[in-house]
Amino acid sequence: MRENDPAARPAGRRTVKHIFVTGGVVSSLGKGLTCASLAMLLEHHGLKVAMQKMDPYINVDPGTMNPFQHGEVYVTEDGAETDLDLGHYERFTHALVNRHSNYTTGQIYDQVIKKERRGDYLGACIQVIPHITNEIKDAIRRARSDADVVITEIGGTVGDIESLPFLEAIRQFALEEGKAHCMFIHLTPLIYVKAAQELKTKPTQHSVGTLREIGITPDILVCRSEYPVGEDLRRKVSMFCNVEPRYVVEELDVKHTIYEVPLMLHEQGFDALVLERLGLQSRQAPDFTRWKSVVDAAIHPEREVEIAVVGKYIELHDAYKSIYEALAHGGLANRAKVRFRKVNADGLDASNVAKLLGGVAGVLVPGGFGHRGVEGKIEAAKWCMRTGTPYFGICLGMQCATIMAAREMIGLGEAHSSEFVEQCPAPVIDLMEEQKRVTSKGGTMRLGSYPCRLAPGSIAHRAYGKDVVHERHRHRFEFNNAYKKSLTDAGLAITGTWEEGDLAEIVELAGHPWFVGVQFHPEFKSKPAEPHPLFRSFVEASIAHDARAAGANRTAGVSAPVKA
Ligand code: GLN
Repeated sequence: MRENDPAARPAGRRTVKHIFVTGGVVSSLGKGLTCASLAMLLEHHGLKVAMQKMDPYINVDPGTMNPFQHGEVYVTEDGAETDLDLGHYERFTHALVNRHSNYTTGQIYDQVIKKERRGDYLGACIQVIPHITNEIKDAIRRARSDADVVITEIGGTVGDIESLPFLEAIRQFALEEGKAHCMFIHLTPLIYVKAAQELKTKPTQHSVGTLREIGITPDILVCRSEYPVGEDLRRKVSMFCNVEPRYVVEELDVKHTIYEVPLMLHEQGFDALVLERLGLQSRQAPDFTRWKSVVDAAIHPEREVEIAVVGKYIELHDAYKSIYEALAHGGLANRAKVRFRKVNADGLDASNVAKLLGGVAGVLVPGGFGHRGVEGKIEAAKWCMRTGTPYFGICLGMQCATIMAAREMIGLGEAHSSEFVEQCPAPVIDLMEEQKRVTSKGGTMRLGSYPCRLAPGSIAHRAYGKDVVHERHRHRFEFNNAYKKSLTDAGLAITGTWEEGDLAEIVELAGHPWFVGVQFHPEFKSKPAEPHPLFRSFVEASIAHDARAAGANRTAGVSAPVKA
């Protein structure tokens, strides 16, 4: 029996409600943020939410895409390499996010073609409708698990050729599941035309028109706008788009932090409208105290602290999205606003390191691939070691710290990672045996969550306050245990290990105030209301370093730098 055959559902099974979110006119409207905000609101009503994103591009996953094209690759607990919108979903909620939370056109076709090659279709001619659309509907059903509500975001913009199969699939889906259990939310901009000093609704009208041609009538229109949408405009949108005026919701640009968005939508009754439309009862009066205190800490910081992020995609904020978010969370935990000094690793060297990093409170070196910029990252780690500046190395940042320690502390001048130097004479970072056999690039790294045992007394152990933690990975290369003894003897402590695999997960520099390298990606598990312990601790150490530096300057008769 087919998985998407309604008759295949066990009798008496609870009905899952589905919300589909589409976007119109332009991209980058913040659809992901709106979905995450809605999920956050529904969770506050006591509902269990699952989140999903459909991406219309043909890559099987974003794992092999250039960060300049796609931004960061967000890794889920179960090791899927996914779109960065899933990061928003997890930061805003406790929703179920896993490998069924992100499907691309490439993945859908890949599955259909595999089935066709296996003969599963018994010789039928394979077509977009019904085979591709059936596969999409199956993917939507796989997301629901034990959720009360599934929110599925359709990537791209209505009217794009490549989104069509997804839109057709969700139309069919609503028909099959029953319209009472499914709803459509469409997000469009109201464009402000300066010359006329007016918000224009025409692009929204056209975009809704295109949706209706496909057979989808949105239940709620979320209008993104720089200016408040007045009653007249609301009526106009309502009339032209066939949506009741109260179902036209405005989403204004927020002033301080994206974490204001759900509160703003709640004030307009967005969550109440969704519950009403789906026939759902709120299970508890939503209590936003915690969330409001996060927003308050973001709006009223008690101090500022400047942290350098030394990477090679610094022009593109999205390339290190979760890193910046997690640093901001670490700031919130310390009631500090974190300012980022984005430093290009490519071009950083011994001659300019003091100038490029001078005055920062802490340095973070994020993950990365490829040789470009690596020597700059190693130089940054060296500078932090020498100046006592807090250093946080993540994945490649941890590997660079290890290479630096080998060169500086045990005199292995040729120390490197075998990722960058073939036949490396001192590969302190090396490929594991199982990785040597891998030829395909997609989904073949060490991916997803692994346990890590922490050494008592270490910075990491103090930060987490636990003996064993679980963190997400995405890398091929590892700390080479052949150098473990000489490095630890020289003062590079291994303070976190994956015991089963006998792999070093965390290194710390003995005697340094805060020098920590982690092989995993802690940034993926940080939330504004639950800042990651390592980011909280790193920002705290950076604030302390700033205070020490200001004190030293005072003693030397130099006035502390005034920050704008
Ligand atoms: N390029 C390194 C590796 O594959 C680090 C990866 C990363 O920083 N995510 O091991």
